[in-house]
Amino acid sequence: MAQTMQGVFFLGAGQLELREVPIPEPAEGEVVVKVGAATTCGTDLKAYRRGHKLFKPPMPFGHEWAGTVVALGKGVQGFKEGDRVTAANSAPCGACYYCRRGKPQLCLHLESRFNWGTYAEYLRVPAHIVSMNMHKIPDHLSFAEAAFIEPLACAVLCINYAEIALGDTVAIIGSGAQGLMQIQLAKAMGASRVIAVGRAHGRLAVAAQLGADHTISTLETDAVAAVRALTEGRGADVVIEAAGSAETWQMACQMARPAATVVLFSGLPGGTQVSFDATHVHYDEITLKGVFHHTPRTVEQALQMLISGQVNVKPMISGEISLREVEEGLNRMARSEVIKLAVLPELD
Ligand SMILES: [Zn+2]
Ligand SMILES: [Zn+2]
Repeated sequence: MAQTMQGVFFLGAGQLELREVPIPEPAEGEVVVKVGAATTCGTDLKAYRRGHKLFKPPMPFGHEWAGTVVALGKGVQGFKEGDRVTAANSAPCGACYYCRRGKPQLCLHLESRFNWGTYAEYLRVPAHIVSMNMHKIPDHLSFAEAAFIEPLACAVLCINYAEIALGDTVAIIGSGAQGLMQIQLAKAMGASRVIAVGRAHGRLAVAAQLGADHTISTLETDAVAAVRALTEGRGADVVIEAAGSAETWQMACQMARPAATVVLFSGLPGGTQVSFDATHVHYDEITLKGVFHHTPRTVEQALQMLISGQVNVKPMISGEISLREVEEGLNRMARSEVIKLAVLPELD
């Protein structure tokens, strides 16, 4: 093995650097993997453009990956050299106030339990992730597909919160990777109709390909009126917001029928205030739910949905790039030219 490797570092908003750094060595309980693919993510894009509260530069960059185990520390159980694996980007402590209450996604120690640096040739996986949130993957799953385990685990937690009943009409706002995964999960949960609300017609065509029964572009249509028109004036039974603006949060609330559940998936910039019609929320018994991150259980569920093909992520992989193209790739994401890109270190 060479002694050094290439890895992308985040130095602050608008600044990335490809550095030559030592290849990590595994301490007790850790493994080192050769990254097969790392996928670009909206969270990385947010951090790159405006900084992010979870990102403390300078730091290794990237958090979605799949690859091959190349070295194991003492005491690692269940994995061996050569295993194809993927993992979530964090694992909870299991012992804090929120972990004890069944909310590991809100673990008080989450910030120190993330693993960054997947835009690199090699990645060290810390012991707490190896033991709780790393999984082997079958040969038929490509590294790029398996790297979706983390964003899909977030989508699974969201769909669990949505409480979809058989026969429901579900409106999903946002046709990025999250929205496109949610469409498939909503169908898997028994929704009879999924209405995809987005902007770009190209993405809405992918939404239709992945199971959306109706697509609405907010570029030329009043989406709230359109959802009402499709539901005898009631509004959707369940609404999921995965588009990422105060306007779409409001829109989500407005297109919900009485007694609907609205799940607000996307994070907005710190300090953002969103207003809603209190009369609608109160008298119509609207349930508004925030959702954040994933749990070890939803990570497992995400893996099974990928393995079975019940969630098809291939249409969301818009291309393959090398480590030196990460910055350009994020800019292409920002211009909505691509949904997600697979970063393949072997291309360098
Ligand atoms: Zn991500
Ligand atoms: Zn905890």
